[in-house]
Amino acid sequence: MRKHTTFRVGGPADFFVSVKDRETLLHIISYLKEQKIPYFLLGNGSNLLVSDHGYRGVILQLTEDLAQITFDGECVRAGAGVQLMRLAAQAAERSLTGLEFASGIPGTLGGAIVMNAGAYGGEMVQVVESVDILYPGEGIVTVSNADMHFGYRHSILKEKEGVVLSVSLRLQFGEKDTIIDKIAELKEQRRAKQPLEYASAGSTFKRPEGAFAGKLISDAGLKGYAIGDACVSEKHAGFVVNKGNAAADEIYRLIRDVQDKVQQASGYLLEPEVIMLGDFETEKN
Ligand SMILES: Cc1cc2nc3c(=O)[nH]c(=O)nc-3n(C[C@H](O)[C@H](O)[C@H](O)COP(=O)(O)OP(=O)(O)OC[C@H]3O[C@@H](n4cnc5c(N)ncnc54)[C@H](O)[C@@H]3O)c2cc1C
Repeated sequence: MRKHTTFRVGGPADFFVSVKDRETLLHIISYLKEQKIPYFLLGNGSNLLVSDHGYRGVILQLTEDLAQITFDGECVRAGAGVQLMRLAAQAAERSLTGLEFASGIPGTLGGAIVMNAGAYGGEMVQVVESVDILYPGEGIVTVSNADMHFGYRHSILKEKEGVVLSVSLRLQFGEKDTIIDKIAELKEQRRAKQPLEYASAGSTFKRPEGAFAGKLISDAGLKGYAIGDACVSEKHAGFVVNKGNAAADEIYRLIRDVQDKVQQASGYLLEPEVIMLGDFETEKN
C-alpha cells in the first residue's frame, strides 16, 4: 500500500481492485458483503496511514467511468474517483470560480466529500449540490447538501457506511485570470508554509476547538521530534512527515506520543485527522 498512499508507507493488501463503472461496483460490493469479506474504499490515499502489516481484505479504487467530469454551464457533475486538483484546474480553464481552495488538496473528490475537505476559507460544503451515495444493501441515494451533515472534517459518511459515486457541484462564472491568479497565490502559500518536500498526509490532527494543533505541538517543544524517519515537521508542526524510510509503526507511535505530550503540556487531546487502516498494535516480526 506504500505505492497508494502519500505517506509512502503500508504493507500489502490481500486484493487491490480498480473498479471502472457503477454496475461492476454494485456487483463487487454485494458479493463482498455476502461473503463477509472486508473492503475499504481508497481515494488517493492522501489522508491515510496503512499499517506495516497491510490490510486483510479488498481495497477498491474508483477509475474510468467513476472518474469522469461533465461541465454544463455552472453545473459540474464528477465521479468520486476524479482528482480534486484536476477538477479545480478544469473548472479554472472554463472560468468557473469556487474550487480555487481545493486546487492544492491532493485527494479525490470522493475522499474530499467524506472529509468535507477544506483550505483557506473554502470547504466542499460550499460547492456541493448533491451526492450520489451507494448504501450497501439499500441501493443508490441522491443526498442533498443539507442532508449530507457536513461539518468540520465531517459528513454523513462518517456516521453511516456508504460509497460516494458521483457529485453534483455548482460553481459560478468569473474572471479566468483572477481564478488562475488565486490558484497560483494559494499554491505559493502552501509551498512557503507546508513541508511539501516530504511524504505526509497533510495535517495530521484536527483543529481542536479554540486552538491550532500546529501551535500546541510547537509550544510543547515537539518541532523536529522524531521516531526513526517519522518526524514532526520543523516547517509546520501540524504535519508528521516521512523523511525517507519511516515505517507505519513509527508514524503511529509518533502520533500517539505527540497526543500524550501535548495533552500533558496543554490539556488538549488532539484527535488525528488521518485515517488509520489495519493493525497497529501487534508487533512486527
Ligand atoms: C500535502 C497535503 C496537503 C493536504 N492539504 C489538505 C487541505 O488543505 N485540506 C484538507 O481538507 N485536506 C488536506 N489534505 C488531506 C487529504 O488530501 C484530504 O483529506 C483528501 O480529501 C483525502 O482524499 P483522498 O481521496 O486521498 O482520500 P483517502 O485518503 O484515500 O481516504 C480518506 C477517507 O475517505 C474514504 N473514501 C475515499 N473515497 C471514498 C468514496 N468514493 N466513497 C466513500 N469513502 C471514500 C476512505 O475510505 C477514507 O476513509 C492534504 C494532504 C496532503 C498529503
